Amino acid sequence: MFMTTKTLVLASGQCSWRGCIFCGYSKTEPAPVNMARQCADLDRLFVEGGFDELKIFCSGSFLDDRQFTPEFRRRLARKCMDKHVPLTVESRPEFVTAEALGDFEGVEFTVAIGLETSDPALLRKLNKGFTPDDFARAADLLHSKGFRVRTYLLVNPPFCTDVSGSIHDSVAFARKYSDSIVVINTLPHGKTPLLDMWLAGEWSPLTKKEFFDVVADMDGVEKDAETFRFIPTFPREYRRVIRGATEENLTHPHYVVWQDWLQRFYEPPKWARVALFLPCSAKKPYSKSKTHSLVWSVVKRFRGVHRIVVSNPGVIPIEFDDHYPFNAYEWDEREETPEIRKRYVEMNAERVKKYLQAHAYERVLCFLKYSETYEAVKRACDELGIPLRNALSKETYERFKDEGNPLFREEALEELGNALREILG
Ligand code: SF4
Repeated sequence: MFMTTKTLVLASGQCSWRGCIFCGYSKTEPAPVNMARQCADLDRLFVEGGFDELKIFCSGSFLDDRQFTPEFRRRLARKCMDKHVPLTVESRPEFVTAEALGDFEGVEFTVAIGLETSDPALLRKLNKGFTPDDFARAADLLHSKGFRVRTYLLVNPPFCTDVSGSIHDSVAFARKYSDSIVVINTLPHGKTPLLDMWLAGEWSPLTKKEFFDVVADMDGVEKDAETFRFIPTFPREYRRVIRGATEENLTHPHYVVWQDWLQRFYEPPKWARVALFLPCSAKKPYSKSKTHSLVWSVVKRFRGVHRIVVSNPGVIPIEFDDHYPFNAYEWDEREETPEIRKRYVEMNAERVKKYLQAHAYERVLCFLKYSETYEAVKRACDELGIPLRNALSKETYERFKDEGNPLFREEALEELGNALREILG
């Protein structure tokens, strides 16, 4: 029999602990507790109906009086009991008390607890603020009242030196106390110490494949590889315009984690058949620049062309051109030294190579002046044995290179159109 589950995300107050180093939810501004409104919403929800199971998420603890008043909890419990609706909420163990549970007598009630790991030392490093014994006590109390326990565990938390051993030990421990277990891939989230660790190269997330490899042999356990749409995101206070033709503007940690994400997590669009490598532009986002507008006027006539910019932040698929930091850096060619040009080629050859190793395209094309960016893309393709065609011919480049940007020339754009026509018909 299928259950219709209603999931409510209730913004109310703020987690009382707020200390777990991987948690971004608790760092947001506390939502005011408005009990009258919550009660009215609750009444409406049960009048509308259409569900036979209810789950409540609240970025903290539903059983914490600072987030939800006992009156509200009792009102909810009564409604769930009257309508025979099973209820699942989340809570830290210290709020799982006989008094709080007394309100849910007669309800098919489950409390989900984020244990994360059964290793007390690791739990301390994660600054979880409770021990596995605290979890066990809460679980025993819940069971003694006839309620159920759902346990969340993290795969690959920071400071974990044996990812597989640690999660297997944790699952074995949690099985003794849980009615259901969810193993969750640890991902960097919001403004957290975990994000700082990723930026400092001290920790990195597992890909979906790596995650499923680790948990492959676990039966009777729910597996959650991506709890939110994971993409490198930097809180406002982290962002800045990165300026200058410098080593920092090649290897800034914000670029490094993006390149890591593009190589290990990103999936190019399904329609992308041809990788078309393009130069960056002083104007950001790139797609608003003259070069990219002209290129788009040609490319839009064909299906399957994926535009990919190569610049000092690395490889940038065009769909990210208005994402930080790709829309917030400046690299002045007049500041370039022979040494920094050499580093630019080295860095980008490596990044293009890793990108192409991770993502297979039918053909690789570029539309680039015969300069450092072309040299980097060419080197990457040569090392991979991938034929590279520059849609801008050497002849056209030589002919116009002293008269402004040769990529703006009608002849060059015609060559781009011809190259795409030959490949895509
Ligand atoms: S993981 Fe849970 S307990 Fe820890 S800070 Fe976040 S909301 Fe609070």
